[in-house]
Amino acid sequence: MNKVALITGSTSGIGLGIAEGFAKAGYSIMFHGLEANGASIAKEVGGKYNVEVSFSNANLLVADEVEKLIEQTIKKFGMLHILVNNAGIQYVAPIEDFPNNKYENIIAINMNAAFYASKKAWEFMKNQNFGRIINVSSVHGLRASEFKTAYVASKHGVIGMTKVLALEGAEYNITCNAICPGYVKTPLVEGQIKDQAKAHNMSAEEVVEKVMLKKQAVKEFVSLETITDMALLLAKDSSSTITGTSFALDGGWSAQ
Ligand code: NAD
Repeated sequence: MNKVALITGSTSGIGLGIAEGFAKAGYSIMFHGLEANGASIAKEVGGKYNVEVSFSNANLLVADEVEKLIEQTIKKFGMLHILVNNAGIQYVAPIEDFPNNKYENIIAINMNAAFYASKKAWEFMKNQNFGRIINVSSVHGLRASEFKTAYVASKHGVIGMTKVLALEGAEYNITCNAICPGYVKTPLVEGQIKDQAKAHNMSAEEVVEKVMLKKQAVKEFVSLETITDMALLLAKDSSSTITGTSFALDGGWSAQ
């Protein structure tokens, strides 16, 4: 029997990397995301690794849709073992120019959706005496950068939530951990390069060199493989005592 993993935001970037890694390891995958070709991505990965897949485009801005995503996963596969709260958005602007609706949407998708999804999955995981909740936070859950009020607040919030769920899940073999990557070259970051260039009045090349990788001791984007390997480790049966922790995969950024 294959274990089932639901990865939010898995039709792009980091989530897609994690989903592929889990499919390769034999997990059944619930794909999720807003990309128009989401269903075909799911089908392709499922076919490539010969695992069962499904797809949802639930809008994580709506609590009710987050809950339905969990219900749909359990209905489809009859099980849910791994929940990766990965979907996230970003917006970069100085506080006085930061639109309220951008702030609210970032908090809703990056933080609140992790709460609604974990809450809905909880009883099921508790009853099966197994759950692995993996929150994709960020080095910005541990450190701040200017112009990212909403993002930094949401990612710090997720780390707080991770600790609480670890405590509450301890007696039910439900673990909860956060992965905190430095910069990973995904569509989200490609967008940020443009926004940051505007905010800092620099060229795209200067932003990568002088802003993005400035704080990483290792001057490389973090690879999808690094993040996937971490997630696979956290998902294992034998990782039952790894809980409530944040793993910085940030090229040494937070060592400073
Ligand atoms: P991405 O833009 O490539 O993917 C984001 C995914 O979230 C997409 O599938 C998108 O459809 C989904 N999504 C966005 N809004 C949604 C909504 N309202 N409802 C449902 N789905 C929605 O981004 P990424 O870089 O892969 O980021 C994934 C996660 O990793 C995010 O939480 C991000 O904050 C975090 N992260 C990224 C980096 C980086 O450098 N890329 C670094 C640290 C942390």
